Amino acid sequence: MWNSRKVGILGGGQLGRMLVESCNRLNIQANVLDAENSPAKQISFHDGHVTGSFNEREAVRQLAKTCDVMTAEIEHVDTYALEEVASEVQVEPSWQAIRTIQNKFNQKEHLRKYGIPMADHRELVKNAPEELAEFGEQLGYPMMLKSKTMAYDGRGNFRVNSKEDIPEALEALKDRPLYVEKWAYFKMELAVMVIKTKDEVLSYPTVETVQEDSVCKLVYAPARNVSDKINKEAQALARTAVAAFEGKGAFGVEMFLLEDDSLMLCEIASRIHNSGHYTIEGCALSQFDSHIRAILDLPIPVKSLEIRQPSIMLNIIGGSAPDTHLKAAEAALSIPNAAIHLYSKGAAKPGRKMGHITVTAATMHEAETMIQPLIDVVDNIRA
Ligand code: ATP
Ligand code: MG
Ligand code: MG
Repeated sequence: MWNSRKVGILGGGQLGRMLVESCNRLNIQANVLDAENSPAKQISFHDGHVTGSFNEREAVRQLAKTCDVMTAEIEHVDTYALEEVASEVQVEPSWQAIRTIQNKFNQKEHLRKYGIPMADHRELVKNAPEELAEFGEQLGYPMMLKSKTMAYDGRGNFRVNSKEDIPEALEALKDRPLYVEKWAYFKMELAVMVIKTKDEVLSYPTVETVQEDSVCKLVYAPARNVSDKINKEAQALARTAVAAFEGKGAFGVEMFLLEDDSLMLCEIASRIHNSGHYTIEGCALSQFDSHIRAILDLPIPVKSLEIRQPSIMLNIIGGSAPDTHLKAAEAALSIPNAAIHLYSKGAAKPGRKMGHITVTAATMHEAETMIQPLIDVVDNIRA
């Protein structure tokens, strides 16, 4: 049967949970590797799940025994475990792709060979102040010091405004493998979800992302005030970058739109991505639906990746109290066309992604008007 193959998912957070939602609608069994009662497991009742972490070799081996195709909701997984099980189970995308992408410096070195435009950068080998000062001379200030590994939500980035900031920057990221990037003076941040199938590289339209404190806050789909030409160029760039990696599934590509309208790649994620959540309501096939279809070699009609109605996605991020994020969801209950997604992660921690809301409307202007009260609530939670 076309839907009888079992999918194993490394990680059962919100991304895994939304993958499970897609699997459930197709009667596809998804076996999740994560702690008991993780968000993804809560909506998937069967005995195929594995308790443990995507960083435990033995747990990954155990998951491999339960499924036909293995995938991950996060790139920070043990790729040596994946390499080991790849002979017995299909791993999508490939462990090589995940290994290269999970190290942002290696990712950029790899993409450089494909002519992908990126911010000029330098590798630190000693994490020493003299070394960073020399790169400051070469790249100019400000520059962005970045951890090569285990980076997410900007945790791993430090903006170095001048030579005087160097000791503080190195202290903040000490003991991590580092590289430094030239500052990108962008007028907008863009993102494209790319779907790599067995024989094609497809893309969703270009969206605009707004980060606050380096965490994604809003996504406008399609990107506002971006010409059709740039929309197409960004999709082409994203597809070229993803084509440089082996394996199937969804990839999130973050880009900068510079003052002169040129594009620069920020980074790639080898997985479904926050910038693609709008596809659940905005498109006929969500990024989660497409990911599952891609890894199982099921058809993906290209038309189903188009945006049906302008959409705005707002992240609900944890505030100071364990339940303040619920205020945003409560306010959204009364907003027309607002789809609420709570991730059931339990008590919130400040800065933690607890849910999201997507508003769709006939025009972007209308969607902006409808979502504004919710943005105000979210701003108050964080304040
Ligand atoms: P994510 O949660 O998206 O994985 P991350 O921790 O991997 O985030 P980046 O995506 O590299 O971090 O950077 C986070 C944000 O910091 C970017 O979206 C952008 O706003 C800003 N940023 C990153 N690199 C630069 C740069 N070279 N110049 C200016 N701003 C930058
Ligand atoms: Mg990242
Ligand atoms: Mg990023």
